[in-house]
Amino acid sequence: MGYYLRQFVINSNKLFDFFFPPCCFVCGKKERSYLCNSCLKKIKQRKIEKYQNISILKKKHPEIKEFLFLGEYKGQLRKNILSIKINKNKRKLKDAVFALMEAYDIKGDFLFTVPSIDEKPFHSFYIAKYLAFLCDIIFPEHGLKKIIKTKKQKNLKKTERYENLKGVFKKNMFGVLKKNSKIVIFDDIITTGNTVERIIETINTGEVYIISLAVAVKQSYIAKNKDKQLYIA
Ligand SMILES: [Zn+2]
Repeated sequence: MGYYLRQFVINSNKLFDFFFPPCCFVCGKKERSYLCNSCLKKIKQRKIEKYQNISILKKKHPEIKEFLFLGEYKGQLRKNILSIKINKNKRKLKDAVFALMEAYDIKGDFLFTVPSIDEKPFHSFYIAKYLAFLCDIIFPEHGLKKIIKTKKQKNLKKTERYENLKGVFKKNMFGVLKKNSKIVIFDDIITTGNTVERIIETINTGEVYIISLAVAVKQSYIAKNKDKQLYIA
């Protein structure tokens, strides 16, 4: 049943795209695909080490097998994400999911996203649910709960952000997750990586694959500046 429904959705989407061709989700180039050739190439050749926060997180948690994301949170990619978040643009939401699938062969046993205490966050919840459906991964909607109301992460200092999320998530999947379960975690934008880290700690099992639309981190500016300083000295 799931299989036929999935095929039906994929095929009707192909038909829709024939009449209304998509643009590259990352740069906006009109190439009748969700990712243009040059963006796809960039994704494939990307080095995680370039992004400080996520490479630190990956070193800290060896259970993280891969960090998958479409690009840096800027330009057209940022505009597209904002139109999903703010304008609840369904076309862009769909394009985001298909762009992720075009970039990566996403496999896993369970897919989680960042839970919220009040209402479901439209964008990440539906992207995660749609992605899980198309990739045939179980999406335990209530498998992870947020049990403490927190301050908005973006209003806090870097050091406060990690503390702010202490004990806020609760795992609700007793006996379902195995030691070798493949866990996919979707977070729309990765900034400090604190949220994802707390989720990994809460789930505390299996191999982890992190999927995100964009990473909003400074590149290794510090390292570059250090070189400059050395050079000047
Ligand atoms: Zn592109």
